[in-house]
Amino acid sequence: MLNSHAHIDFASVQPYDTSSVCIVPSVGKQNWKEVSKFSHYSYGIHPWYLDDHNVNDLDLLERYIKSNSPIAIGECGLDYKNSGNQQKQQTFFELQLELAQKYRLPVIIHAVRSTEEVILTLKRFPNITGEIHGFSGSYSQAKTLISMGFLLGFGMQLISSSSTKLRSLLMSLPIESILIETDDHYNPNDIHLVAKTISELRCLPVEKITEQCDNNAISLFNIK
Ligand SMILES: [Zn+2]
Repeated sequence: MLNSHAHIDFASVQPYDTSSVCIVPSVGKQNWKEVSKFSHYSYGIHPWYLDDHNVNDLDLLERYIKSNSPIAIGECGLDYKNSGNQQKQQTFFELQLELAQKYRLPVIIHAVRSTEEVILTLKRFPNITGEIHGFSGSYSQAKTLISMGFLLGFGMQLISSSSTKLRSLLMSLPIESILIETDDHYNPNDIHLVAKTISELRCLPVEKITEQCDNNAISLFNIK
């Protein structure tokens, strides 16, 4: 089973089952080297870690991209709930989208209370595709992003029966546009619980959900 987004390099996160595939996103220059040890990783600067970075770090980011084989740029994006300095967030987001465009890589986007601004920004980069991980927007925003070539990531929040809005959203989306993930949850092997929940909500066998979500990630991130 392919876990499309798990921070298994974090000390708080357990190792992932070695027989399975995992995409390990980075959050900034502090873990670019670390994530490079995994088979599938991405390079980016997360909006929570902008205080540790200045624009010169984008040159370092580009050097990492050129001399290694990331499958994506990210995670990057906008967070209007947990992070300040919206102008700096916007600048770093756009500079990373430019790198994604230049190196023809998909982007892994973190969008919290900022889905509309993320959509507006992405419209200025029409050649870019990618994933909105931990999607928390509305149905109409989901439809817009899917029409722009983006996939939407769903994780441990789905497991809770109190996530009624997220669950009803998931039930109305095409299965071809869904990715499954565990993000920074302590046990990335709990990805099977996410797949099981989707299978119950969609009344489809869990094998079918897993196969489709795996294929969605494989084609988006061009995984060999
Ligand atoms: Zn993440």
